[in-house]
Amino acid sequence: MLNIVLFGPPGCGKGTQSEKLIAKYGLVHLSTGDILRAEIANQTQLGLEAKQYMDKGALVPDEVVIGMIASKIDANRDAQGFIFDGFPRTTAQAAALDKMLAERNMQIKCMLSLEVPKEELIKRLLNRGLTSGRSDDQNPEIIENRIKEYNQKTAPVIEYYKAQNKYKPINGVGSIEDIFMALCQAIETE
Ligand code: AMP
Repeated sequence: MLNIVLFGPPGCGKGTQSEKLIAKYGLVHLSTGDILRAEIANQTQLGLEAKQYMDKGALVPDEVVIGMIASKIDANRDAQGFIFDGFPRTTAQAAALDKMLAERNMQIKCMLSLEVPKEELIKRLLNRGLTSGRSDDQNPEIIENRIKEYNQKTAPVIEYYKAQNKYKPINGVGSIEDIFMALCQAIETE
């Protein structure tokens, strides 16, 4: 099984590269952001709770997102592997993911971290906001807050995977194809 964490700040290209990795390696995509937006669209209790945080650019509480993941893994037990996109976003989530996978005789192969400077992220997110319909992509203050949350709570997850020798930094600036090639190379060199 090929289980990958695709990591990086908002706007680093996780969504775009996930699609390409899924097509190439036949993986199941698990994006907590997509799952949360679907919950909001369906007006579920979970969606209503999560929306309060997402509208501010804040992280949704760990117990909410951790609870969503196990059922998605179990619903795809025949998968060739999973790509975790936007999860884990805290070290508590990373530890919970490891536990969840170990209980199912699975593990993460590597954490691919797309590195992009802040100015470029803001430019990309505002640009995406023109077409994504996402209010959290349209407001510079919310974007700032998302990047702040990333730096404070999410960036430490790098240390978690470094300690397991699974951290692989990838330059996230350049053409989509070049970045994709770098990701594939990192996956295939072990
Ligand atoms: P994304 O689509 O990954 O950019 O996520 C959009 C928003 O959903 C984030 O700004 C958070 O509010 C929330 N979110 C998504 N994934 C997580 C997660 N793993 N932990 C906490 N909040 C999350």
